[in-house]
Amino acid sequence: MRSLRAKYALLGEELYLAEDVEIVIEGGKVVDVYETSKHTQNVLVMPSLINAHVHTADYSLLELWPEKGLEEIVDPRAGLKIRALEQEERLERYVWEVIKISYRRGTFALADFREQGEKGLEIGLRGSKGFPGYLPFARPPGNIWKAYGLGLPEMNYPQAFEYAKKFKEMNKPVAVHFAENKEEDLEELLKLEPDFVVHANFVPKEWLEELKRRNVAIAKCLRANAWFKLPNNLEEVMEVGVKLLLGTDNAGWTEPDLWRELEFAFLSLKERDEERARELLKAVTVNAQEPLKLPWKVPLERGSNWPLLLLNSKPLRPGSSPYIALVKGRLPIESLVVP
Ligand SMILES: [Zn+2]
Repeated sequence: MRSLRAKYALLGEELYLAEDVEIVIEGGKVVDVYETSKHTQNVLVMPSLINAHVHTADYSLLELWPEKGLEEIVDPRAGLKIRALEQEERLERYVWEVIKISYRRGTFALADFREQGEKGLEIGLRGSKGFPGYLPFARPPGNIWKAYGLGLPEMNYPQAFEYAKKFKEMNKPVAVHFAENKEEDLEELLKLEPDFVVHANFVPKEWLEELKRRNVAIAKCLRANAWFKLPNNLEEVMEVGVKLLLGTDNAGWTEPDLWRELEFAFLSLKERDEERARELLKAVTVNAQEPLKLPWKVPLERGSNWPLLLLNSKPLRPGSSPYIALVKGRLPIESLVVP
């Protein structure tokens, strides 16, 4: 049995802010959380972070083609990126590099949208060296059934429907890039029954409402969109209340760092308050539980077996909002504790 006494903790599904808490860990999970009058460490404890959308192998293409547009780079068949990845023989080490960077910055799980079908999945699995938070979302063609999930580059991708159906049958998550740089057909998308979509930038409000009704989450990747000069509808997504996730997308162009993503997201909102900051923190933690079908219990409460993130809370002053300090990346990371 281990016990952790912290000045602050973000508890449960709503990341409720508690002060002076003792967290008791036993047998690989949190067995108790309660207020304490004993001396506490100057730390804030929260669930470690989840990156809902990243392409790790892009790290091999760091800052290439700055003058090119999205379509020319990422087209899944003829884009510059897919051709370059096909020629790179040591992609595994970039996968591992991104996992390491993520871990150091408090991200334990990453949904890696692997290119190159079966071959790409194998590269991801080798590169990740069995890291438990590595969640490869593979795309067709080939034998990709051992992937964690299906990650389609677009909804009309060859064999999209057959693969989506089989992944659903296996109770594995299905995700699709959707309406990144143009409007796309919602009806067609819904036939794939995705658990979450990536981007959804060009979506009228009624469609956001429909996605919410169908319990389809949206993974926004705002810095990647900004880099490719695409609009940002975060305000509307949050206003409608679609389940929000955040991802860092192409590791070649946007650093796989969710703190930067959080700050960018927060600053891109017109209204910035504690409530919005808390919603964004949920997007990188508890919100991912259901759409990513995570096998851990993420919220920090009794029974949680998800790694805890400890941040130094010394910078906080009386009256400081820990939520806002967090989304601005102001609390230094101390460690990640696996129950
Ligand atoms: Zn992507």
